[in-house]
Amino acid sequence: MKLSSSFVTTLRDAPKDAETVNHKLLVRAGYVRQLMAGVYTYLPFGLKVLNKISQIVREEMDAMGASEVLMPLMHPASNWKLTGAWEKSDVLFKVKSRTKRDYALAQSNEETVTPLAKEFLHTYKDLPLLIYHINWKFRDELRSKSGILRGREFLMKDLYSFHIDQKDFDGFYKKAKEAYLKIFTRLGLTAKVTEASGGVFSEKISYEFEVLTDAGEANILYCNSCDYCVNVDDIDKYKEGEDCPSCTKSKLKSALASEVGNVFDLGQKYTKAFDLTVKNEAGINIYPIMGCYGIGITRTMGVIVEKFHDEKGIIWPKEVSPYDVHLVGLNGKGENIYNKLKENNIDVLFDDRDIQAGQKFADADLIGIPVRLVVSDKTGDKIEYKERTSNDSKLLDFEAVLSRLDR
Ligand code: ATP
Ligand code: MG
Repeated sequence: MKLSSSFVTTLRDAPKDAETVNHKLLVRAGYVRQLMAGVYTYLPFGLKVLNKISQIVREEMDAMGASEVLMPLMHPASNWKLTGAWEKSDVLFKVKSRTKRDYALAQSNEETVTPLAKEFLHTYKDLPLLIYHINWKFRDELRSKSGILRGREFLMKDLYSFHIDQKDFDGFYKKAKEAYLKIFTRLGLTAKVTEASGGVFSEKISYEFEVLTDAGEANILYCNSCDYCVNVDDIDKYKEGEDCPSCTKSKLKSALASEVGNVFDLGQKYTKAFDLTVKNEAGINIYPIMGCYGIGITRTMGVIVEKFHDEKGIIWPKEVSPYDVHLVGLNGKGENIYNKLKENNIDVLFDDRDIQAGQKFADADLIGIPVRLVVSDKTGDKIEYKERTSNDSKLLDFEAVLSRLDR
């Protein structure tokens, strides 16, 4: 991709209403634009990041044996009335048609996946069933001032599982928890697992995956010596400075965090509401146990920016960076290296614009691709190689650059 053909330009200043780092940097670097509070356009670089995050999530969902589908965003009100959420949910967006029919916009997809599964589930042999999709959600959130951390429209991966009994569910629940930790590690994040109550979804225990960041809205207490972590909003049993109730080795620390994912035990709430039964081995009709498992794709992108940036701009982890390298061409140089990188399957952003070198370097730092290459009159037949996290650059030949990019 050549920057000279990109329609998006970077901005020197952040929008006046931007309060969080992710909002400021993502707009300045040309990843997103805000249409209104909590609703964003994802520009080409932003879309690439979303696709990279989605792909990592997808690979781990597929590895668990889940099937990807794409469910509707617009639902008949009747499904939501059946489960009571039409009245109970504060965040459900309701839409009326010109024929005065009521519809709901997807705030999540239990109300569509359960009747869908009902068509295909008949006996215990059809279980477990694991269905997921990666799609937009709409929620009438009151606070949407954290950039893409809290959207009124946001991208989520939601997985739903159906099980013959609690034992089978519990086994899968553990596997899902492990898969989630793997996903966040691959995304370059350290997620702490909290135990919390299931909120409007269920009375049962749920797990939240929290990443420490001051931009987050969750108050957590955690232990530095073990995995213990709780959401303070849910319990008032423990306080900062008290011994960790799990290992007793350290004092509990309090921190702000952002919830990037969670998993819920839904029990039989939805299978009962939609009268979804299967025959067990004895030929008796039973209601399967359900679980739901969300990951906020757009929120995760925002959290990554909150975690990985400096005063100059974003610093993407390699796995989610929109490009592998940012090639800065000075004095009209670079076309040859650009083509050679592409031939070697390196996804390269080439700054071939006819502007000042200083502006090109500032943009490279702002955009945040992990490796910057420079070719100019000064570099001769070598290439200047610099990592976004380092101040040192090296002059390398093409092969040496390639082998470094391989790592
Ligand atoms: P929160 O407590 O932050 O409102 P939630 O408990 O409502 O989250 P879920 O309904 O379980 O979250 O949604 C699954 C995931 O979707 C969350 O873990 C989070 O990563 C993401 N998510 C939820 N609400 C939003 C939002 N308004 N904007 C962006 N991402 C969101
Ligand atoms: Mg919420």
